Amino acid sequence: MLNIPAAPPLEGAKHLHSGKVRDLYEVVDGPQAGHLLMVASDRISIFDFVLDSTIPDKGEILTRMSLWWFEQLRDLVPSHVVSTDVPEDVRGRAVICERLDMYPVECVARGYLTGSGLLDYRATGEVCGIALPPDLEDGSRLPEPIFTPATKAELGDHDENVSYAAVESAVGADHAAALRELTLQVYARAEQIAREQGIIVADTKLEFGRSTSDGAGRIVLGDEVLTPDSSRFWPAEHWAPGRAQASYDKQIVRDWALSASSGWGRSSGEAPPPLPDEVIALTRGRYLEAYELLTGESW
Ligand code: ATP
Ligand code: MG
Repeated sequence: MLNIPAAPPLEGAKHLHSGKVRDLYEVVDGPQAGHLLMVASDRISIFDFVLDSTIPDKGEILTRMSLWWFEQLRDLVPSHVVSTDVPEDVRGRAVICERLDMYPVECVARGYLTGSGLLDYRATGEVCGIALPPDLEDGSRLPEPIFTPATKAELGDHDENVSYAAVESAVGADHAAALRELTLQVYARAEQIAREQGIIVADTKLEFGRSTSDGAGRIVLGDEVLTPDSSRFWPAEHWAPGRAQASYDKQIVRDWALSASSGWGRSSGEAPPPLPDEVIALTRGRYLEAYELLTGESW
């Protein structure tokens, strides 16, 4: 089902892995040798398909947003970013980062109920073993933000929500407690910053690892942070529980693909057709709007 294009060769770097959106390399030459080079492409995926169409500047927008957030969070947790001095071909949309020993846990914080959390809640009244009040709806604000860890799925599979006890067994009680604490702190900070700009951070997924360079193994925030690919951002003024919320991400693409005009059937097992130019432009505008609103910077 996955159709990820081959990562372009980069001088001085060895390709390690490609996800749906990002290409990961190891720096093999020069002073940064041993570090990772994480490149955000302009690829876009919906329903686990990487589309043939790309969204111009998406990789750069998400990279800049992530770098901005790392700055806002630096007093809470160090980030893996080492440098933004990257090869010319990927300038602006790549970072050099410290290679961490990643925890095998997707650290998710939710302040609002939707997505897989909502599905679990409807089935059991709980999310990741956390009991929630009755009568919550799609988009409801939770009484307080919760830590809802998930295990990383193999390529193409969906992440699976797990209990806190499962995280304790996987990484030990002390590390589990630290990850939960950090995740909720990062969420609280982000939620507050975004709210001032009229954006709700409904939920977000973080990935942490341990530094291997300092002996102490301190916990470092890795991957990308608080982008529309890792989080749900909703315009606060349109928030109304009880239905799907408008969001600053690829919703326009999903809506188009599911509409009659795309001619695509989700059950066909085939990738959606190329995007019309206006869907591309609208989607690019949506990512830009989120970037500019959040950071206060113009593109
Ligand atoms: P997808 O996100 O498309 O579902 P994926 O997670 O395999 O698939 P990416 O997100 O592009 O694809 O992959 C980035 C990988 O790099 C992830 O496995 C992530 O855990 C890992 N990673 C992120 N930061 C670091 C780091 N500092 N050190 C080591 N690994 C890292
Ligand atoms: Mg990933």
